[in-house]
Formats: sequence, structure tokens, C-alpha cells
Amino acid sequence: MSSSPLLSRQLFYDGKPQPASSGKTFQSINPSNAAPLAEIPVASQSDVDAAIAAADRAFPSWSQTPPIARSRILQKAASLLRERNDEIARVESLDSGKAFTETSTVDVVTGADVLEYYANLVGGGGLNGETTQLREDAWVFTKKAPLGVCAGIGAWNYPIQIALWKSAPCLAAGNTMVYKPSEFTSLHAQTLAEIYLEAGLPAGVFNVIYGAGDVGGYLTSHPTIEKVSFTGQVSTGMKVAGSAAGNMKYVTMELGGKSPVIILPDADLENAVNGAMMANFYSTGQVCTNGTRVFVHASKKSAFEQRLLEKMQHVRAGPLFDEATNFGPLSSAAHLEKVTAYIRHGIETDKAKLLYGGLGKPQVSNDLENGFWVRPTVFTDCTDDMRIVKEEIFGPVMSILYYQTVEEAVKRANTTELGLAAGVFTKDLNMAHRIIDQLQAGITWVNTWGESPAEMAVGGWKNSGMGVENGRRGIEAWVKNKSTLVDMCGEVPTVFAKL
Ligand code: NDP
Repeated sequence: MSSSPLLSRQLFYDGKPQPASSGKTFQSINPSNAAPLAEIPVASQSDVDAAIAAADRAFPSWSQTPPIARSRILQKAASLLRERNDEIARVESLDSGKAFTETSTVDVVTGADVLEYYANLVGGGGLNGETTQLREDAWVFTKKAPLGVCAGIGAWNYPIQIALWKSAPCLAAGNTMVYKPSEFTSLHAQTLAEIYLEAGLPAGVFNVIYGAGDVGGYLTSHPTIEKVSFTGQVSTGMKVAGSAAGNMKYVTMELGGKSPVIILPDADLENAVNGAMMANFYSTGQVCTNGTRVFVHASKKSAFEQRLLEKMQHVRAGPLFDEATNFGPLSSAAHLEKVTAYIRHGIETDKAKLLYGGLGKPQVSNDLENGFWVRPTVFTDCTDDMRIVKEEIFGPVMSILYYQTVEEAVKRANTTELGLAAGVFTKDLNMAHRIIDQLQAGITWVNTWGESPAEMAVGGWKNSGMGVENGRRGIEAWVKNKSTLVDMCGEVPTVFAKL
């Protein structure tokens, strides 16, 4: 166990760290060795009320600040994030268990990119409305108005990235936010609030509270909250969306997936294997868009499996800050239990053929023995009815399914209630487009997997979500429309005239 002093965190609202009145705390744990990292205060209902009140007070002035001025502040925050990349990434690794090789190159960077993107978008007229000439003496113009105080609720897999993907368009559009990170990965939130403040964000525009689902539930159902942006599991999302929609709040839901990768017989084998591995083992499989159902043409079975097995040797578990490590532990003890239960179910009940990995831990040094490690695992010859094939595991567990015809593969790929992501590997681009067109998912890739740049609007179909984040479309989720008809003819047409 590490004997490092515990990090300290506080609630953050009204432009400063604030004590919590609940008297309760929870621990943040380093998933690689189970050592406590920080004692985090739980927000009481009156703390949540106070954070929402701060956001409400800040809204009139922030929403009236010209977009170009808001843009300058957000650009500055993006620069500060980049300057402090390694320092922030270090804490993200400790908190989430992801290897520093990942957090230092992806997590902060892709968050800062989105902040810069929306700062540029609103600074460059991205909130402008439309003008429509109706007739010679009448026109319609539209305005995009901010919504008000918004709630952001984050999952634990990409902590600071999720906080930025929500707060960047929210603040750029002129809203204010109260953000609750997952209790498993809360450390980034105060740092982000401090960076926003340092960049010039007025007090109360971005606020942070901590706690578990009950705190999230109180926040998202609060009458002052105008919009809920949620990232998490389908079951939680359904509850939160139901309560928000019932109270006429705007919602964006980024939920889970069980995404298919279809590998055609003509695909570049090397590329397809690399894609399938990135789609299953990056971030130890804790990625919402993971392509966990890998459909391979039956004629390529032995070639695909052989190359995959060779490459599995390159999945390297180890100390989080070791340059060679590209595979960390799972994020929590509870999640380890869940993923292990799925692997056990795959072996014992589904009776899937275990090609690689399985139960137990990968080899790690003694000081990491207590961490939440699981082996990267591949099941092959899977069938559509297996539980490991049907349910989101959210861990490093690949299921390979063989198919004979493209029609069959597409049909089976679509046989799920989820529709987050999908992809195809082939050299035939016409065929790729035809397949992509038929796949029921909001995020699709051709001959690659996983890249999600600021410019790309992403969101799930079916039970995987509602609305999108990022891209030009993403800003629309944070504004409401006002249409005005202006008539200059000087006479109101009326039916109430003398006969
Ligand atoms: P959860 O649904 O368990 O939790 C998500 C967040 O909601 C957490 O902050 C949680 O708090 C909070 N919460 C729990 N209950 C409530 C409630 N009743 N009201 C309001 N908030 C509540 O998801 P996980 O954290 O386990 O995240 C993993 C899931 O997220 C996976 O299914 C994954 O696919 C999905 N995900 C989707 C993404 C996408 O863009 N589509 C991206 C990343 C992840 P706490 O944890 O503190 O209890």
C-alpha cells in the first residue's frame, strides 16, 4: 500500500472551494493497488441547493456576455489544460487506473480539443440564428438562447474528458453548470473548476458537487435545473431521463453499447486485428463505444485467430507510470467483481470457447497484487444468444462470432436493443458504405475504430442514448430556439372586420 498523503478535495461553487455540510466523506481509491488516494466530501441537499443557487446567480451575466468574450476565456482554459497536461493526466491515471501512456496522450488532450472547438465555434458566429424572407415586407428571424442552469453527470471511465465534453458546449452557449463526477473518479473536477476560474470564468458559472446516485438524483430533479446531460449506464439513464422529461427538462443521454465490428473477407488482416484489439482492450475495455461483438467471415477464422493470438502478447499490464504499460486495472473492486462474473459466465454457462485470458489476474508486481486487475480475454465461436454476447460487460472481453454472408452479419449485428457504435473493415469502399448505411448505430467507423475527435458529433441510437455531443450539432443541445416574425406592411390582417 502507498503511504502517500491523501489528496484533499472540496466542493466548488461561487468561485471557490467550499466545505460540505453533510459531515460525510467517501474515499477515492487507486485501482492499481487499492490504496486510498483522497477523502472526498459528500454534498448534502443544502450544499447542492447552494451550488445551484450560485449557478443561477451567475446565469444572467454570463448568458449576456458576448460570445466572443466567452470564447476568449474558454480558449485560455484550453491552453491551461494543455500546459498542465501531464500533471492532470497523472492524477487521472491514479484515480481511474488507466495507464499514463493513455491519459497523457488522450484524456486531457481530447477534452481540451473540445473546449477549443466550442470556443472557436461560438466566437466565430456559431450561435447565430437564421433569417428567412417570407415576402417583401415580412421576415422571420431565429435566435439561439441559452437554457439556464444545467446539470452534468459523469461516468468514471473518461473523467476529465467527460467533464469537458459537457461543460465546453454548455458554457460556450452561455449556460452555467453544476457538475457531479462519478464517485469512483472525482479528483479531476476541482482542478477543472480552478482552471476555469484562473482563465477568467466568473464565479458560479462552473460548480462541482460530489456524491453517489442519490446526490445525482437530487441534482437532476431540482426545479432550477433546465437541462440534464448524463453519461452512464442505460438503466440509470432511463431513470434520469424519465424524471427529467417528466419535468420538461432538456436531456442528453450518452449511454452504453454492445457494438459490432464486421470484418469482411477482403479486409487487411493486420488492420482488422489491430482495430478489433483497440475496440476491446484500450482503456482495459472500459469504453462505451467498444466493439465487443467481432463478426469475422468464416473463411478467415484461423488466420484471424492466429494473428490475434500473436498480438495479444503486446497487451502489457504493469505499473501505471511505466512507459511500456498499455493495460491498466479495472476502475473499482465492484467493477472487477462484475467483469469477473461475466468471464465466469462465459466459461461455465455460455460455454463459449476461451481463446485467450480468462479468470484470474495478469502478471503484475507484488506491490500491485491488491489492484483490480483482470486478464484481457477473448472468447471465440460465440453465438448470438450467449449472455456475454448480448450484455454490455464494460471490460476487456472480446467475443468473436463467425458469419457466412454480409446480409447475415448485418442482421445479427443489428439484433440488439443498443445502437451506440458499429464498424466495418474491408478494402471495398462501396461495400463499406452499403454496410454502414444499414447498421443501426449513431457512431460508425470504416477501417478504423475508436477515434472521436471534437469535430465529430457522437451519440447513440436505440437504448444507447438521446442527442449528440461534439461537432456543430453538439451545440444545439445547449440552446433553445426563439423564432420572431416581423411584419412591416403596416396592417394586421384580421377576420374581424365589418361585413
Ligand atoms: P452509472 O450509470 O452507474 O453512473 C453514471 C453517473 O450517474 C455517476 O456519476 C453516478 O454516480 C450517477 N448516478 C447514479 N444514479 C443516479 C441517479 N439516480 N440520478 C442521477 N445520477 C445518478 O454509470 P457508470 O459510472 O458505471 O459508467 C459506465 C457506463 O457509462 C457504461 O454503461 C458506459 O457504456 C457508459 N458510458 C457511455 C458513454 C457515451 O458517450 N455513450 C461514455 C462513457 C461511458 P456514482 O457513480 O457516483 O454513483
